[in-house]
Amino acid sequence: MKLFDLKGRVAVVTGGNGGIGLGMAQGLASCGADVLLAGRNAAKAESALASLATHGGRAAFIATDVTHKQACLDLVAETVRRFGRLDILINNAGTSVRKMPQDYTEEEWHHVLDTNLTSAFLCSQAAYPAMKQAGRGKMINIGSMMSLFGAPYATPYAASKGGIVQMTRALATAWAKDGIQVNAVLPGWIDTDLTRNARRQVDGLHERVEARTPAGRWGVPADMAGVAAFLASEASDFVTGAAIPVDGGFSITT
Ligand code: NDP
Repeated sequence: MKLFDLKGRVAVVTGGNGGIGLGMAQGLASCGADVLLAGRNAAKAESALASLATHGGRAAFIATDVTHKQACLDLVAETVRRFGRLDILINNAGTSVRKMPQDYTEEEWHHVLDTNLTSAFLCSQAAYPAMKQAGRGKMINIGSMMSLFGAPYATPYAASKGGIVQMTRALATAWAKDGIQVNAVLPGWIDTDLTRNARRQVDGLHERVEARTPAGRWGVPADMAGVAAFLASEASDFVTGAAIPVDGGFSITT
């Protein structure tokens, strides 16, 4: 369907070499986009790239650490050099350190905030000139249920994900007149490396999520493909500043 057609569009997905980022990258590739995956682990990227190749568009990996401003500038420059343009940015790279608030070191706090929030800001800033010049662009920031709720083991994570929603709104207001839409996606509990660790560290988490989620299951990365395609395509041209839960109903039940 033309509304969701992404042929000729170029996307960068940070942390796209696995998990939710890869699920979203596959959604974009299935609509025809060329996709550049950005992450630190090149070995993980190999199978990710192979899965994108089946869709026929171009796909590549850039090894980078998006917590550094220069790395974000280089990522955008390299994308434009290789693929000629940048239309879509998915700020998905993320991490978590699970502890009670009184036990975090300052370094752990900054590590989570830098990875989850500052990187999204720096990549958005880096992408803005190319999108402004093109007169259009799509930015998609990955929040969390922790954008809405709290948990005792997630102080910096929740702070970063709450920040993602407010940053999204601020950027959306700033850049709407440039034809750039900025939205957030709030995934529910999705089965990835990140949550496999959480399930090991938080007793009873697996069962609690299953019991509370109206859909009755954990999500999988492929559940994130559709929302990525929607927010990256002209189907969402009048949607900006939104924070869309993709959570099997987790956020609307008690
Ligand atoms: P993964 O651990 O599978 O993915 C995280 C990705 O981020 C990895 O591919 C990793 O790549 C990349 N990354 C981390 N740090 C950096 C960095 N400094 N520079 C570049 N890339 C980096 O977990 P998920 O797929 O679960 O998480 C993806 C996003 O979704 C995160 O923002 C997370 O907070 C969010 N989320 C996840 C939920 C879930 O239930 N799984 C729920 C709600 C939100 P590499 O290994 O190469 O460094």
